[in-house]
Amino acid sequence: MPAKILDGTKIAQEIRAEVAAEVRNLASAGQRPGLAVVLVGHNPASEIYVRGKVKACEEVGIFSKKLDPPESVTTPEMLNLIEYLNRRDEIDGILVQLPLPPQVDAKAVLLAVDPAKDVDGFHPMNVGFLSTQRPGLVPCTPAGIMEILTRSKIPVAGREAVVVGRSDIVGKPAAMLLLNANATVTVCHSKTHDLPAVCRRADILVAAVGRAGMITRKYVKPGASVVDVGMNTVSDPTEFRRFFAGNAKREETFGQKGSTLIGDVHPEVAEVAGAITPVPGGVGPLTIAMLMFNTLKAMKMRRGSRVPEESRA
Ligand code: NDP
Repeated sequence: MPAKILDGTKIAQEIRAEVAAEVRNLASAGQRPGLAVVLVGHNPASEIYVRGKVKACEEVGIFSKKLDPPESVTTPEMLNLIEYLNRRDEIDGILVQLPLPPQVDAKAVLLAVDPAKDVDGFHPMNVGFLSTQRPGLVPCTPAGIMEILTRSKIPVAGREAVVVGRSDIVGKPAAMLLLNANATVTVCHSKTHDLPAVCRRADILVAAVGRAGMITRKYVKPGASVVDVGMNTVSDPTEFRRFFAGNAKREETFGQKGSTLIGDVHPEVAEVAGAITPVPGGVGPLTIAMLMFNTLKAMKMRRGSRVPEESRA
């Protein structure tokens, strides 16, 4: 039986609608969450991401402010900008779009963001809150993975979860969230011995590797729930055929655009998994939805005492 498709687009819409309802409620009490997005230079991919984030803010009623320092910006100038945003009361969330130009000390910039406004959840203080199960801001993509599992009623407690990838933005926080939800968690990386065998232990397999179609059927226990975080572009026709031969819809897109998006999970896995997130339309849409959620949460946590009781979630 083919795997159940976990529709991330639909789940993301649900979350955005919930955030929008709460933002409307706050508006009637004269409150509005605000997000500052800092985009340095003109990286085309970053520009697309930022446009998506600003548009999402408009849709849910969050105030957004875009700041675009020039490509030549220095570390002290970036630190000044962050300090300014930290002080602004109408700004609840600060998002610095990565990558930053090489002359800028990205770690210093991220460290300068007030942890209470750190809607990406990258600040060491929020990392610590997550690992000690204290309230804080959780990185958007891993938080989105948990929303997909919870809202799809996939049990986590007591299950074997395997996360492939140990990055600070996806793999590690995803593993921590699964652990906090009482899964038994294994984290794998490029030095893991016999990766397919380790992955086959998983009831829940999270792939966050950045390698097109690497997770093939031999990595997957039949019936497992597979979450594919990877976003890889395939533009080579031979590679395309290796993954999508016979898939009419994909062939049409590839013919038109000359490329297509593929996750870290090979399409053949849909034949063995119990449930699987598609790419596109799986984890991706959750990332922006959780950014909206985090901005609202940051507002409630920071300005909580001034938000009327009936407006609090
Ligand atoms: P990183 O490159 O930071 O991390 C990749 C991880 O995969 C590393 O821990 C690395 O191990 C591990 N890895 C690489 N090759 C192998 C291998 N052959 N076997 C086992 N492990 C391996 O990537 P990110 O975590 O930032 O992103 C992962 C993927 O998720 C990317 O495709 C990215 O585009 C996508 N992504 C999607 C998002 C979304 O919204 N859907 C958001 C963020 C990312 P080691 O540590 O040993 O080097």
